Amino acid sequence: MEEKKSVKSKFKRVCVFCGSSTGKRESYRDAALQLGQELVTRSLDLVYGGGSVGLMGLVSQEVHRGGGRVLGIIPKTLMSKEQITGETVGEVKAVADMHQRKAEMARHSDCFIALPGGYGTLEELLEVITWAQLGIHDKPVGLINVDGYYNYLLTFLDKAVDDGFINPPQRSIIISASTATDLFQKLEEYVPMHDGVVAKAKWEAEQVELNSHLQTEIAR
Ligand code: AMP
Repeated sequence: MEEKKSVKSKFKRVCVFCGSSTGKRESYRDAALQLGQELVTRSLDLVYGGGSVGLMGLVSQEVHRGGGRVLGIIPKTLMSKEQITGETVGEVKAVADMHQRKAEMARHSDCFIALPGGYGTLEELLEVITWAQLGIHDKPVGLINVDGYYNYLLTFLDKAVDDGFINPPQRSIIISASTATDLFQKLEEYVPMHDGVVAKAKWEAEQVELNSHLQTEIAR
């Protein structure tokens, strides 16, 4: 690998969601390795789901090989199933279940990046977007749209905006680019939208109001 000059970043730890399979195209594997190299160049720690399978294994091994810090967060139940997860490089944090894993992955990171993947990747990606929408966090969320893999998802999100299910400002929570380098440039420039925080405050206020209304009704 050609030595790349180190680049300063405003982030410290990046959470990567990606396939537990490598996918059928070489470009997916290349993108995983490029993301790993980009993390090393920017001296960023990797936080991911643990294990060595699929693109997850490629990213983590590349970061580890380049001398970067790797933190795999893995539920105890999956840890014993070596054939499902494979061996994790770097540090491993064992958690109770899948829910705690996602919360810990989010807590330990400053931004999120998704590479191509399947149900697991989509679920993780959509959850952190939903959390951003509710103002639970204001960390940037990026998508590496390798060879147009996510074109249908992005088109679907535009349809959801057109049909009134996603607000236009909330559509821009998700930042996409076709390479890790381009994506990092956009993530570094990202300014969190504060509507989400407002939405959270409003949502919590509504919850409190609803709860006190229910208590009054129950007391009658
Ligand atoms: P998928 O896209 O369905 O392959 O799921 C990958 C995502 O879900 C990863 O980002 C992981 O956090 C989690 N995941 C799914 N399968 C595994 C596995 N075998 N080992 C570790 N994490 C997994």
